[in-house]
Amino acid sequence: MGDVLIKANQLTKRYGSEPVVKGLNLEVKGGEIFGFLGPNGSGKTTTIKMLTGLLEPSAGEAFICGYDIAKQSTQAKALMAYVPDQPKLYSKLSAREFLKLIAALYRIPPESVKARIGQLLEMFGLEERADELLEGYSHGMRQKVVLASALIHQPRVILLDEPTVGLDPASARLLKDILQELARQGAAVFVSTHILEIAERMCHRVAILKNGDLIAQGSPEELRRQVGHEQESLEDIFLELTGGHEEAELIKGLEEG
Ligand code: ADP
Repeated sequence: MGDVLIKANQLTKRYGSEPVVKGLNLEVKGGEIFGFLGPNGSGKTTTIKMLTGLLEPSAGEAFICGYDIAKQSTQAKALMAYVPDQPKLYSKLSAREFLKLIAALYRIPPESVKARIGQLLEMFGLEERADELLEGYSHGMRQKVVLASALIHQPRVILLDEPTVGLDPASARLLKDILQELARQGAAVFVSTHILEIAERMCHRVAILKNGDLIAQGSPEELRRQVGHEQESLEDIFLELTGGHEEAELIKGLEEG
């Protein structure tokens, strides 16, 4: 594994007096796919927004490739990409036009823009419809355009919020392959998901968030060992740690009853 590329130091967010993320510490290295898990409302999106500089922490700090996201945001943002859960696209642009716009925002040298866009369109299987307006694209195709745009400046850090929601199995597989390739090339990949199977199959390390606290961190195998159930799936461990087991048992009881 490489250097630490994402770091949170006592990262905290309060709304009023209510803390929703509580003194979070974490590190993600280059080459690593880090899964960020937690039930709805546990603080995942709030954390990602603080890591990307979109939301100001109430306390603590975040670093991207060693740059403080609050104090050195230009340097930090040039090296990272963020894929939100509800991405916004300009629907009156074509995919190619949208990618050109993003390339210009990142100041990609004009002589390499065309080739880079061509490469991304091909990678995501978007060439055929690259000149159609985005308003006619399906949700899955829009997701691909957003991902392509996130990769345009070859970021060293990529943070994705629930990226598989709404993707068909083939697109979800493509996403997994691409994230693995990025990690292989040395990027740090931070992915929030509530789909545990994805985390289990894709992530080198996972962290589990509950009510704004990190309650466990490690490889899926390490978590199994921590909980003392080496045969269990990540799903069982997750439910055990987040207290969802009782509800799962209840539902099972209802089904059986
Ligand atoms: P997750 O992404 O894990 O579902 P969020 O980070 O979206 O969780 O939310 C964490 C908690 O913070 C939730 O209880 C949510 O209601 C609360 N929250 C999020 N944004 C705001 C806000 N702008 N004002 C007040 N509370 C908020």
